[in-house]
Amino acid sequence: MSKSFDVIVIGAGPGGYPAAIRARQLGLSVAIVEKYKTLGGTCLNVGCIPSKALLKSTEHYHAASAEFSHHGIEVSGLKMNIEKMIERKRQVVDQITGGVGMLIEGNKITRLEGHAKFVSKNQVEVAGELYEAKNIIIATGSKPAPLRGVDFDKKRIISSTEALELTKLPKELIVVGAGVIGLEMGSVWARLGSKVTIIEYGKTCLPGMDKHVQRQMQKSMKELGVEFVFDTGVTGAEVKGERVHLSAKNSKDEVVNFEGDYCLVAIGRRPYTDGLNIEAAGVELDERGFVKIDSHWKTNVDGIYAVGDVVGGAMLAHKAEEEGVAAAEVIAGKPGHVNYNAIPGVVYTWPEVAVVGKTEEQLKEEGVPFVTGKFNYGANGRAVATGETTGFAKVIAHKETDELLGAHIIGANASEMIGELVVALEYRAASEDVGISSHAHPTLSECIKEAALACTKRAIHSL
Ligand code: FAD
Repeated sequence: MSKSFDVIVIGAGPGGYPAAIRARQLGLSVAIVEKYKTLGGTCLNVGCIPSKALLKSTEHYHAASAEFSHHGIEVSGLKMNIEKMIERKRQVVDQITGGVGMLIEGNKITRLEGHAKFVSKNQVEVAGELYEAKNIIIATGSKPAPLRGVDFDKKRIISSTEALELTKLPKELIVVGAGVIGLEMGSVWARLGSKVTIIEYGKTCLPGMDKHVQRQMQKSMKELGVEFVFDTGVTGAEVKGERVHLSAKNSKDEVVNFEGDYCLVAIGRRPYTDGLNIEAAGVELDERGFVKIDSHWKTNVDGIYAVGDVVGGAMLAHKAEEEGVAAAEVIAGKPGHVNYNAIPGVVYTWPEVAVVGKTEEQLKEEGVPFVTGKFNYGANGRAVATGETTGFAKVIAHKETDELLGAHIIGANASEMIGELVVALEYRAASEDVGISSHAHPTLSECIKEAALACTKRAIHSL
């Protein structure tokens, strides 16, 4: 086996493996290193894919227990087999990670299994062997961020990784953090009957998102039985037998206590460069441990690039993928490009949230004049027919030029519907372009058309 490559990619997550494939497509010799036996990184093994598998299973259960009766479907003896649900999730992960293995093999990329460690700026050691490359892409991802005073024991004080593997229904689940992962994992277990309490340091869930989306999400989660405690910082935890006792402080500096059988800490993720011996290559990290890069994903060291969660920004699989592909193109002498403003963000709760571009709050801060158009799912024929009337689509356009600046959807199928607005934003469409495009009837996507038309007060189905 050759030990010298044009490109070595470290990490086979959604940042790393697309970078390796794109570099091969461009005629470069490539090796990819992964420390785990399966490829796909956090996303495919313990992130996006397994969480969506559990969300779907529990959505089915919730529909059968709470919604089928409205359609005249009578169900008796409904039971949830959690072990089977987890087993299905494992099969999904096996199938998808196996698929990445086939792509790596089919593209004739050398797969190296082991923990990569820099020896110099163009050499890495993997499982005791030395490999060298003209270019190295660091795509080592992230790990759950720990919370001071609340150490993970991985049994009772858990991260999302363990929350995806619980085979018994928690009676009471305390979630620390009302961000995307906290809400998604909280809704999985709440749908099955756990009493879920989400404690958040800030004043709302989904910090940074559109404030109407935040409000609707809070309402919908409450309807599911989830309790929110805002303005409260968890300061310590103690595990006693099968119970976790948490202490926290609220905004009045009062001590508040919580108790549950599990505590899921979901306060964000930290960059992962442990054991990479990055100093040997001379690559600089910032004060929070992210790899520093320029606008072409180049580190301070010639020939070393970094992409994905390890460089910070939105910690999203599709953002990592765009960066991986662009970095491979830059290495091959092409103009790699990522439009960060057109990277969508999705929350796979019920209802779903999907956003792209700027929020009203950001535009106000930037002093950009804008108009908004909003359309409620409740006025959409398909939504009424399917019983999915919660939510809205909001489109934001420049007040003078009508250029689309942002879109914020909360409602059924939002994750699939946002694609049209990403393309519109990417091509710098006006709200009118979206509004006058024909949308099939009856579809939920007509909410987008109507919201876009509402920017210029032309919506047909609202007053
Ligand atoms: P990672 O996926 O973390 O991959 C890095 C890889 O590098 C890992 O496989 C690691 O083992 C390997 N590695 C690290 N160091 C070394 C080394 N020295 N040698 C060899 N290998 C090494 N994002 C979305 O866009 N949509 C979602 O729905 C979504 N849901 C999520 C749900 C959960 C519960 C979690 C935790 C995350 C979710 N994310 C989601 C985020 C998404 O998983 C990450 O943004 C994405 O995986 C980042 O990709 P990456 O390639 O940068 O890093």
